[in-house]
Amino acid sequence: MKPIPLFNLQAQHKPLRRRILQSVQRAVDGCQFILGEEVRLFEQEFAKALGVRHCVGVSSGSKALHLALEALGVGPGDEVITTACTFVATSQAVLSAGAKLVFADADPRTCNIDPREVEKKITRRTRAVIAVHLYGYPADLDSLREIAKRRGLALIEDCAQAHLTRYKGRIVGGIGDIGCFSFYPGKNLGACGDAGAVVTQSEQLAQKLRLLRNNGSDPVDKYRYLIRGYNSRLDNIQAGILRIKLRHLAKWTEKRRGHARLYRRLLKGFPLELPPEEKGGSVHSYHLFCVQADLRDALAKFLNENGVSTGVYYPIPLHLQPAYDFLGHRTGDFPNTERISQRVLALPIFPELKDAQIRYIAGKIREFYKA
Ligand SMILES: *Cc1c(COP(=O)(O)O)cnc(C)c1O
Repeated sequence: MKPIPLFNLQAQHKPLRRRILQSVQRAVDGCQFILGEEVRLFEQEFAKALGVRHCVGVSSGSKALHLALEALGVGPGDEVITTACTFVATSQAVLSAGAKLVFADADPRTCNIDPREVEKKITRRTRAVIAVHLYGYPADLDSLREIAKRRGLALIEDCAQAHLTRYKGRIVGGIGDIGCFSFYPGKNLGACGDAGAVVTQSEQLAQKLRLLRNNGSDPVDKYRYLIRGYNSRLDNIQAGILRIKLRHLAKWTEKRRGHARLYRRLLKGFPLELPPEEKGGSVHSYHLFCVQADLRDALAKFLNENGVSTGVYYPIPLHLQPAYDFLGHRTGDFPNTERISQRVLALPIFPELKDAQIRYIAGKIREFYKA
């Protein structure tokens, strides 16, 4: 068996290579690099794919989160609650907006923010909650929406790992006030560089986001600035590439789900916790297929020695990161997040993965636990 990577972008690009290069060529020849036609069309098409009214293309998923907070009016003096069990960009956005970062623990089974823990962290100054659909599995949005409504908070969905994830039948992104997407190359929908988008059902928020991403510039009087803004636009070349890939996203997502079903069948009865089951209309988009394992590091080493790449998302919980020393957290503050960081292991899952490769991986895992 040839080595099995964790992701395989080469395999994804092979059948699309000609179309991608033609699209780049058209952009170079057309010289419409900033907020061109491709950006406008991608925004339309992505909004339609998600069933949401507005999409605003931005320069990355990180920037999507930062601008979402500013569009909601969150700033200095405000507190924002998010999970300690996520990628650092989620929490970084809170600091970029100048607000106070407040962590809450994760649910041990779904690895997503626990609404009861959110409730405990709410103060007079809390303005917003950022829920992350981690690994592609939807957060408990009904409970979070109920809390947000009752306590007068905004709800942001970090959908960077959750393209076409569904919660109770609805595609995530447009369920909270604002949904934030990343098109980092390795995400389920990835550009050939950095890119991101913000989606919302609110015309007013969409307008503010369009100003924020473009230096606050008045759309009808370019050198008049209506608000303080940023240069955080989606690049026209990346938008053209994303339009090509978007047409394949639903099919790719189905392939990931098929792979997950096979993993589930083959890994039954092992000392592993498998990703949460899809139920009640919740659909996992399997950006990552994360198991929680006893002897995680030894298992990862064994798989690696047998040609199987794995990943740990994430090895150090955010509240214990050196960058956040100033928050004064200690080991034990968020026990579920800490336990997940010690046990989580991502197995290869990408659309082009073959059943034989999954069988090989499962066979090696069986071998490991037999020994
Ligand atoms: C990738 C990611 C981001 C940030 O996206 P970038 O496009 O890399 O800035 C934010 N949140 C989560 C959960 C992510 O996985």
